[in-house]
Amino acid sequence: MYKNNSMKLIEFSKHYPDEASCKAEFQLYRENQGIVCKKCTAKDMYWWLASKEQYECKKCGFRMSLKSGTVMENSKLPYQFWFIAFHLMTSTKKTISALELQRQLGHSYYEPIWAMMHKIRLVMGKRDATYELTSDIEADESYYSTRYVQEKNEFTGQKEELKRGKGSQRKTGVLVMASQQRKIHLKPNTIKGVSYSQPKFLKMKVVEDGTADEIKSTAQNSVDKEAGIKTDKAKSYPKAFENFRKLEMFDMSKFDPSKILPWSSKAITNSKNLIKAMHHGIEEKYLQNYLNEFCYKYNRRYFGEKVFNRLLICAVTFVWY
Ligand SMILES: [Zn+2]
Repeated sequence: MYKNNSMKLIEFSKHYPDEASCKAEFQLYRENQGIVCKKCTAKDMYWWLASKEQYECKKCGFRMSLKSGTVMENSKLPYQFWFIAFHLMTSTKKTISALELQRQLGHSYYEPIWAMMHKIRLVMGKRDATYELTSDIEADESYYSTRYVQEKNEFTGQKEELKRGKGSQRKTGVLVMASQQRKIHLKPNTIKGVSYSQPKFLKMKVVEDGTADEIKSTAQNSVDKEAGIKTDKAKSYPKAFENFRKLEMFDMSKFDPSKILPWSSKAITNSKNLIKAMHHGIEEKYLQNYLNEFCYKYNRRYFGEKVFNRLLICAVTFVWY
């Protein structure tokens, strides 16, 4: 286990005591990352119209709000709510439910808080998608319990949930990939000289039907082609992983999976326990978001206080379209 060195609540409240401090920091981060005009894509050519709280493009005259093009686009929630969500979603080892966050924020409605958290998870996934796994990779498939909710009925507008036992309970496939055997010296909170072999990076991707082609494209989007893959024996794998440098398949009836694929096995167990404990009966279409959050935090577990600032950078740079 690692020690959680993320920002403490007391420090957070000193840095961001009110709406004005959160908004100012958001603007600072946004401008540091560069303002891109939504219309003509000119970079860093703008006037800041303070009274309107808008950027005006010097090139084409297009105006956009401070939130426009970021994770907060179209959100009516205060900046401070977002900052508190960034903090709580990165500072806790586990996670926080939307219901609990709603309670902590004292907000009357559940839905906007729930939507805010999902947007943050999307941003987390988007950032991790910019990295590729390299060297020796463990690949493993697992099935997560989800539920399927029918879309709104086109006549009544009502969401119709299927009854238990009639197909509402799903097992959704996930491809888990972990880069293996990277030496990390845990500093400064471990006994001198002790080092752990830990995976560097983790990716978890929902695979809808688990065909060789789907696994192939998912793996190719996530893993460097020079990597070597270690996995179990499945019929589709020779084809699914054919384009990588090396493929080793182990018959798990003869081997202990926790020995051959220790980090992916552990990540699967931990993420399932976490999702089960925090979010009861998650919908299949949101599973990827919860996995994004799990991986984002896992991949930055040694970042300490910086993890908050990193998330803030993702939040200001993300463009929805
Ligand atoms: Zn422009």
